[in-house]
Amino acid sequence: MSRSAKGMRLQWTRRIIQAVSLFCLAEFSYYGIFRCPFAVPYVSCANCPVVQCPGKKLWLLVLLGILASGLLFGRAFCGYSCPVGMLNELFGKVAVFKGKISGGFARVAGFGKYLAALVCAYLFFAMHNPRWAVPIRTGEFIKSTLLTFEHAFPLWLARTFIVLGALLMGLLVPYFFCRFVCPTGGVLEVLKRFSLFRYRMADNCTDCGICNRVCGLETRPALDNCTNCGECKGACPVNAIELKGAAGSCAKQQTDG
Ligand code: SF4
Ligand code: SF4
Ligand code: SF4
Repeated sequence: MSRSAKGMRLQWTRRIIQAVSLFCLAEFSYYGIFRCPFAVPYVSCANCPVVQCPGKKLWLLVLLGILASGLLFGRAFCGYSCPVGMLNELFGKVAVFKGKISGGFARVAGFGKYLAALVCAYLFFAMHNPRWAVPIRTGEFIKSTLLTFEHAFPLWLARTFIVLGALLMGLLVPYFFCRFVCPTGGVLEVLKRFSLFRYRMADNCTDCGICNRVCGLETRPALDNCTNCGECKGACPVNAIELKGAAGSCAKQQTDG
């Protein structure tokens, strides 16, 4: 099979997995941002009085699935399954400063996702994930969202507007939320360092930079923010992008990051 045919097949596989994930996770993802009363959403569903929330059934499965996928395939959850990541991908198509944010700024801002993960860990473990909003028990989609905003405490409103602002920044800087802000992205980025499989640049890489220009997250295989999506694989002129196991690392990768 030719390189471009393989690339197309991978892209279609990714689209199908994204569609299935959207169907399964979109509502849970939406409620985590707009209705979850806890400081850190998605992780305290067992203690939540809102019985109609899809998180009641899904949270543990999703949490364990994300952690397992991180150990196996690094940030593949971001590239294949996260509804917020898909929104970022959509915004990235029209982002104003595409290809303009790189180097020093991107490196420093990239620490934001680790900081966000540490803040979440502090809120969860040290402060026992306090409630920052009144749990709204009504199940209706829009009505429960409006009621939550109406009855939320200032800290919940601050958190939610920070998240919404960072998401909208994706219209300016591609994948702003995923690259610089998302705590889940920060945790998965750490797990990625130990993951079994990831796309890597093989030793025959000529450093042409095409993969970086093709990549929506403006990175290269296996480097910071690479989600293992494989979109760049078919674009490499020397076929140097390979999905490799941990034992298959190459010299090129070790020098680059
Ligand atoms: S970084 Fe966060 S929001 Fe972005 S795709 Fe990954 S988990 Fe989703
Ligand atoms: S496109 Fe291929 S050759 Fe060019 S920098 Fe990326 S991995 Fe290296
Ligand atoms: S470097 Fe390639 S595999 Fe990694 S996120 Fe970018 S396009 Fe996807």
